[in-house]
Amino acid sequence: MNTFFIEFRDPLFSIIIFFVLIFVITFFSYWWGRYKSKEDFKHLDRFLKQFRSLPSQNELKVLISSGELSEKSWLLLAQSYSKNGDYEKSIDIYNEILKVGDKSRYKENLFLLGKTYYKAGFLERSKQIFLEILKNNPRTPQALHYLLLVYETMRDYASALEVLESLGELEKDITIEYAYLKSLALLNDASLGVNTKAEKLLEIYIKTHQLTYFVFEYLFKVNPKLAWENFDSSKSELLCDVLWHVDKKDLDFDIITANGYLRELYTARGDLNLATKSSVFEFDVLINLNDKSSATLSFEYMCDNCKQMYPFAFHRCSSCHTLDTSRVEFSLCKNYHRDFSEENNSFQ
Ligand SMILES: [Zn+2]
Repeated sequence: MNTFFIEFRDPLFSIIIFFVLIFVITFFSYWWGRYKSKEDFKHLDRFLKQFRSLPSQNELKVLISSGELSEKSWLLLAQSYSKNGDYEKSIDIYNEILKVGDKSRYKENLFLLGKTYYKAGFLERSKQIFLEILKNNPRTPQALHYLLLVYETMRDYASALEVLESLGELEKDITIEYAYLKSLALLNDASLGVNTKAEKLLEIYIKTHQLTYFVFEYLFKVNPKLAWENFDSSKSELLCDVLWHVDKKDLDFDIITANGYLRELYTARGDLNLATKSSVFEFDVLINLNDKSSATLSFEYMCDNCKQMYPFAFHRCSSCHTLDTSRVEFSLCKNYHRDFSEENNSFQ
């Protein structure tokens, strides 16, 4: 029986105790390391979470009224929320600032709120805000400008034109805005036929010589014959994408043959054979490929004023709100439409 027990004076006993102690210390140090790293991670996670979740409306009320941050900081924060598309938070901040903020800047803050409502698509609320500003300060061009945009988006062109008159009284050049609103009102008039609209639109263009893209895009779509009759070849580059998409049956060969740019454009498209080279790189490549490859042009649109890029043509830049600043840019791309047609034909 005694053979199973080791006496405590036995040197083997000390060695066993020594290894047990090493094991216990190693185990605790490993466990403590894991526990600490888990706690640190949780702490960091909790810290980061408060930045991911936005403060609620009530939290904002308390934060703003406590005055820990200056009004300017709150305005910057609201602007940043608005830029990131979180209009709801931006609107909450502006509303709270209007209640507790500096009353001497009430009109400016109200204007910022109206702008955010407009961006967020709350047109009726935005309209009420700009009308309120104008009730006390009728000579505020910024508020008039935004009110015009609101009416334009609501398709209330008669009211937009009234606002434009007030803007005109403040010595603003309103020629292009006037032509644009008149043209929009015309195109949205359900009582007029397509050809009447085209003729009236052309009358506006002849009077003002503005909105070339807007007018000819419509004319080439609904009445290509009328478009070619009034076409100014010097505007070919501006209308490059519109011309590129005109149906082959609607082409006016006399006008095309008489203009170098148009000859190159339609030879590059593969309809005619009137040019052997072009100074425009993309046209030159397409002319040399001679319709042997499935390449075509793709178009992008840049605002000349604010340099914002758009995948579609626009008349009023949604970023800086200027009119007729669209500039078309093109590049070579694969013609998926042609590939698709060829694949379909091969099955027949
Ligand atoms: Zn712009």
